[in-house]
Amino acid sequence: MNRVYNFAAGPSAMPAEALETAAREMLNYNNTGMSVMEMSHRSGMYLEIFNETESLVRELMHIPEDYAVLFLQGGATGQFAAIPLNLLASGADYIDSGNFAHGAYVEAQKYGPVRCVASSRDDNYTHIPEWNAAEFNPAADYLYITTNNTIFGTRYAALPETGSVPLVADMSSNILSEVYDVRRFGVIYAGAQKNIGPAGVTLVIVRRDLLGRARKDCPKVMNWTLMADNGSMLNTPPTYAIYMAGLCMKWLKAQGGVEGIEPVNIEKASILYNLLDDSAFYRPTAAPGSRSRMNVTFTTPSPELDAKFVKEAAAAGLVNLKGHRLVGGIRASIYNAMPIEGVRALAAFMKKFEMENLR
Ligand SMILES: *Cc1c(COP(=O)(O)O)cnc(C)c1O
Repeated sequence: MNRVYNFAAGPSAMPAEALETAAREMLNYNNTGMSVMEMSHRSGMYLEIFNETESLVRELMHIPEDYAVLFLQGGATGQFAAIPLNLLASGADYIDSGNFAHGAYVEAQKYGPVRCVASSRDDNYTHIPEWNAAEFNPAADYLYITTNNTIFGTRYAALPETGSVPLVADMSSNILSEVYDVRRFGVIYAGAQKNIGPAGVTLVIVRRDLLGRARKDCPKVMNWTLMADNGSMLNTPPTYAIYMAGLCMKWLKAQGGVEGIEPVNIEKASILYNLLDDSAFYRPTAAPGSRSRMNVTFTTPSPELDAKFVKEAAAAGLVNLKGHRLVGGIRASIYNAMPIEGVRALAAFMKKFEMENLR
């Protein structure tokens, strides 16, 4: 079996161990005579899987009891609407650090008064915007951030201080990759397809005192309070995606959990950034103080060489390295499931490509 090193931004590489277990259990899960896909979401055997997955999230992220953990659908983009529908009354502040942050801000405008309190849009999001906490609304319903900007390859090195204002964070592309103190946040949410598991499930972690605030016209399936009251099963949840997420989390636990994988992720990212900083050929696109550990973005001296790089890398088994159209160039997404060997193989390819194309 030949597996490639898959640097896709999402859906992205998953641990081979998790995929192998799923394959082994595909037709007959744990002597039930059926696939997890074929189980009723209300059955005891499925609820065991579901509850174990929730326990794993709680354990890996050290989520306190006064936070609800929800498994929803509609992706991170669904939450762009769900957040104002569940929390917005008098006004909220947004920090615009990338295209997804901007999309969340625009979506929220449909539902009430929101302000953008910092933005790096004019610099094509090459850095996390600077903010002045004195400009935050101290009575806001929440302040919204995107901890890792997948497209531009930037990450908050420090979180804004919001006092009693709940901090709401889109962690789609760096959840479970580094240690966060959940208590710093009112809401954390993430689409699964980068660092949690396959596409189809969206994890929402919400402090319970923020429940009960949803607008009357909030659709049932987006209502965190109703979902929390019904164990995320107001309707059929994405059962198989949740099972797969659980398998990926078991793998993460075996790596020492988030505490175990964070130093590996730092090392993986520094292999690439060190190479980029030492090279006159490659140019990293994210500002040094804002660099992501999950998405490393860079260019070669020309768009033609970028295209050649992506093509030759793919032929060498290093696939999905083309940058997002808003940035161009190359993007290497190196989530938890990308082994350090894959990053070393990419670094070796980069050195070789530089030698061959230097002029
Ligand atoms: C991928 C991504 C999204 C969009 O996720 P969907 O599940 O496709 O809606 C939103 N925010 C961030 C930070 C992302 O990386």
